Amino acid sequence: MAEMNGMAFSSTWLRPTISAVLPDVIRHDEADAAEARLERFAPVLAALFEGEGWDGRIRSELIDYPVFGGAATMLVKGDHALPMTGSIKARGGVHELLFLLESIAEQHDLLADGDYQMLAGNAARELFGRHAVIVASTGNLGYSIGLVARAFGLVAEVHMSRDAKEWKKARLRQLGATVVEHACDYTETVARARTAAATRDNAFFIDDENSRHLLTGYAAAGRELASQLEARGIAIGPERRLVVYLPCGVGGAPGGITYGLKRIFGANVVSVFVEPTASPCVLVAMATGSAHSVYDYGCDNDTIADGLAVPRASELVLAVVGDAIDAVISVSDTEMAGWVAKAWRGAGLRLEPSAAASFAAFAPFTAAAGEAGWPSLDNAVHVFWATGGSRLPDAEFLPLIEGAAVC
Ligand SMILES: *Cc1c(COP(=O)(O)O)cnc(C)c1O
Repeated sequence: MAEMNGMAFSSTWLRPTISAVLPDVIRHDEADAAEARLERFAPVLAALFEGEGWDGRIRSELIDYPVFGGAATMLVKGDHALPMTGSIKARGGVHELLFLLESIAEQHDLLADGDYQMLAGNAARELFGRHAVIVASTGNLGYSIGLVARAFGLVAEVHMSRDAKEWKKARLRQLGATVVEHACDYTETVARARTAAATRDNAFFIDDENSRHLLTGYAAAGRELASQLEARGIAIGPERRLVVYLPCGVGGAPGGITYGLKRIFGANVVSVFVEPTASPCVLVAMATGSAHSVYDYGCDNDTIADGLAVPRASELVLAVVGDAIDAVISVSDTEMAGWVAKAWRGAGLRLEPSAAASFAAFAPFTAAAGEAGWPSLDNAVHVFWATGGSRLPDAEFLPLIEGAAVC
């Protein structure tokens, strides 16, 4: 078991106080452009995925979460049920893909009259069919890119690390994507996929470790959450801070969201990254000052949280939000499994272990923040980011909740 090796016990890293810093590695206009792009594509996504009765906007609900009890405001950001993909990758991963589709279409003058609907038509499909997208994944990124790429007719080649679940590979093959299986970890799979992409014509590599378009796609969630809080009459400020619990793999999703929220709320939002004890790559980076591999610190990267099984953090993410991350908490497989069961029984949320990690971080984080002498979080609003799981087949989900000890 992961918990028995090296430093693979739950640990916390906290900044001396809540960060008010947001480096300008990503510019605000880049993030605004991502929001505008997602808006432009809404009608065409709605047309391609029209079976779902959906307006094409990649948004999720903000859900009351009764399970903790107590007086604090506890909410869940329901990205586990995001349209199309059922995971947070519908934000960053799909945004990068839309950027790519838009670039190909523009180069071939398909968008001359600004009609995005035509990207769902035959001329566009024929064009996209002559281009390939290549991506590496522990599961959800490849699944999301493959699914949406195939809907547009793009050739999709998905390189899966050893963590990836069989049902995602099977579903991708059904959709006509090529699945290349690797018996190695995520960092190595990315390197192999990058090499495969470099030797092919008309092939684009979606680089989860280095993509600005991924980050800006995720960042759009910041304004979305801000408007949902406002609609509930919740005013965030020094008297009432927002604490977000963000499951973290390579760091892109939590990093982009941190960027989007710090931009709006500054030091009134607390960004808590959550990682498995076996794969605490951002914790290692924050504690040591650079993106070392977790293997160098006695961790084996073996976890039930396939979405978070990443041994080395993204350097780009560290540059963009390294100074803005307020805390990193690592949580065990047992705790994640326990919260999968608890979120299901208590609130009917179908989550994968990666998403349930957010809940497991609450207790260790609030204890550590209290001891660290941070500004008071007594009146804070806590938002647990449910990053994936609504599409898990019963054969995957039921064993998870049956086997789990409820914590
Ligand atoms: C990808 C993923 C994350 C984390 O995203 P990174 O960009 O890798 O940090 C968290 N939860 C789930 C379910 C994911 O699929």
